[in-house]
Amino acid sequence: MPEALALVGIGKIARDQHIPSIARVPELTLAATASRNPEATVGDVPAFQSLGALLDAMPEITAVSLATPPQARFADAALALSRGKHVMLEKPPGATLSEVHGLEAIAKAAGVTLQATWHSREAAAVDAARDWLADKSLTAMRINWKEDVRYWHPGQDWIWEAGGLGVFDPGINALSVMTAILPRAVHLQSAELHFPANRDTPIAAELSFHDAGDADISAGFDWLETGDPTWTIEIETAEGTATLSEGGARFRPENGAEIAGEDEEYARLYQRFAALIADGACEVDLSPMRHVSDAFTLGKRVEVAPFEW
Ligand code: NAP
Repeated sequence: MPEALALVGIGKIARDQHIPSIARVPELTLAATASRNPEATVGDVPAFQSLGALLDAMPEITAVSLATPPQARFADAALALSRGKHVMLEKPPGATLSEVHGLEAIAKAAGVTLQATWHSREAAAVDAARDWLADKSLTAMRINWKEDVRYWHPGQDWIWEAGGLGVFDPGINALSVMTAILPRAVHLQSAELHFPANRDTPIAAELSFHDAGDADISAGFDWLETGDPTWTIEIETAEGTATLSEGGARFRPENGAEIAGEDEEYARLYQRFAALIADGACEVDLSPMRHVSDAFTLGKRVEVAPFEW
């Protein structure tokens, strides 16, 4: 019997990725949705305006996927877990690290699965980049994650509100890839965050990391890039260079064949969710979010021009 899955937050990513990807995973079936907007429905799938109402009406639901913004994540996740449901969290998994530690404790106590997803880690060439780097001596890594906020996040005011992360909303995707491919842990050494005078979250950031092997590791995030986005990681090693581009979909080593593939990120995430449920396991890696949290703690704040849509 497939898991009866409820999807919460029927917005951009739910429609672009979650709904079509759930349909591709036979171990899951989309059995209900919840969104505050009564018109945010998905065909004839039973629709509710809150997760509480959904769970009261449909006790047969066994799993819940949350595709709401991070500020709304904790309350729904805690409710679902405490009612014994398996939970998948969109990235970032919460508004704070402590929230997610709390969710993990609830999940373990309830004996259910909690999956904190990082969709960019599932991009087609990320595993190839990790494997290529594993036996090399890293000397430098430069991350450039730059896109036009007006094109990629049109009208999404939550990204400018506290807890919405601002440019770290896409930037955390880069950090999820960085932490997946680096052979060792690094920590933030310095950062500069640019806050529009009228917003609570940054529009640009520059980060520099300490690496035990002395590699020069840095990242630049910018939301005022126009035209095509740049989602690229340049890697230098003693044995040669390589580029991971298109958000992790394409890997080009200097001396070797290019690796690229189709976008299967969300289908892979849901396959993994089903596998974790079958194994009775949790998967909660907070390393990308720790770097973001460190940037807000350590980063120098610079006020820049107000941002208007
Ligand atoms: P969105 O469309 O602005 O929001 C998703 C849905 O969440 C909305 O349709 C809204 O539905 C509900 N919502 C909005 N604010 C809420 C609040 N304060 N409390 C409760 N519900 C709220 O955002 P999105 O782009 O889909 O992003 C959602 C999450 O997915 C974010 O964490 C984002 O980082 C992640 N993500 C987005 C993308 C992307 O390309 N957009 C890609 C990967 C991951 P109702 O008003 O009907 O409740």
